[in-house]
Amino acid sequence: LLLVFGHVDIVVRETFPDSRVVSDIVEVVTNELNSRGFTADNTLFSASVCPDEINHAYNNLSQMFTRAWGECFQMGGLAGVPFSGQTGFGAFSAHVPTDGNLFILYAPHIGISPTGEFGLYARAGQDNTCGTACGSAIAAHKHITNGGSVPDFAHLGEYPHDYQQQWIISKLAGRMDVINKADNKMVELTKQMYSIIEDFIHHIVSSDQIPGSTALLGGIHINTPSPLEDFFWPLSFEIYNRGAPKVDVLHKLRRDLGANGNSTPIASDMVTKLLVRTLSTMQDDDPDGVTMSLKCTSPRPDRVEEEECPFTDEKIDDEN
Ligand SMILES: [Zn+2]
Repeated sequence: LLLVFGHVDIVVRETFPDSRVVSDIVEVVTNELNSRGFTADNTLFSASVCPDEINHAYNNLSQMFTRAWGECFQMGGLAGVPFSGQTGFGAFSAHVPTDGNLFILYAPHIGISPTGEFGLYARAGQDNTCGTACGSAIAAHKHITNGGSVPDFAHLGEYPHDYQQQWIISKLAGRMDVINKADNKMVELTKQMYSIIEDFIHHIVSSDQIPGSTALLGGIHINTPSPLEDFFWPLSFEIYNRGAPKVDVLHKLRRDLGANGNSTPIASDMVTKLLVRTLSTMQDDDPDGVTMSLKCTSPRPDRVEEEECPFTDEKIDDEN
């Protein structure tokens, strides 16, 4: 177990050097916001994350934030894009407590298999196989790679039953060169999704509608094999106050997390800490129960020889 977790830990930290386990993120971010007057009573939390169930487990990021702040307004559609849009934000902002604050998390996600392969995730109950994560983003990438049609943004109305995925395809099409030149296409795909989501968020969030402060936390959520705790890579942490310049607190967040851009993997004591914490959390807090099993310890045979796109045989039609 420790060897598998240690390998995943090393790969995640080499790829996302300032990422931290989600419980550390929740603790440090909550403390920072508390110090700035955000409390559970005066703050409404919203999350723009992919509806994929692996992002909404009891001990995962959005659920822990929801328990810390009391409730959650879900803004996210496929891949974590805030498809609820300006109307959703308008409703959300109207629900803020009197003189209260908003806290918004936005994050695309990427799975990592027990063998350290990004874009794959070993789901509970699917022994010996890995599915994709984020399935929506990877399906869009695969669609374009295979020469599928790219919908004209102005004509998304032609896809009334799949407009979210068509929108993602239309947005990713212009970023394929960057993605396909990267050493790790799945990692770059996720970074490009982050850029798309961040741009969308800044178009719909208006701090002028909020009586108090608006905090925006953005980053990449890394889904690790169970029972290892998931990681989050913070990329933006900003606080807006009506009529005042924004306050950038990302540097302070990274400092408080002990992040310093050092990609050197942390030794086995960190892995042990993760394992002990995860196991104790499973016993104490998880009402759903988490089966402790390691799946997909080797890639599926049909994936081994594929170098250009390892997901060409993946069944992703019904995944997020
Ligand atoms: Zn997803």
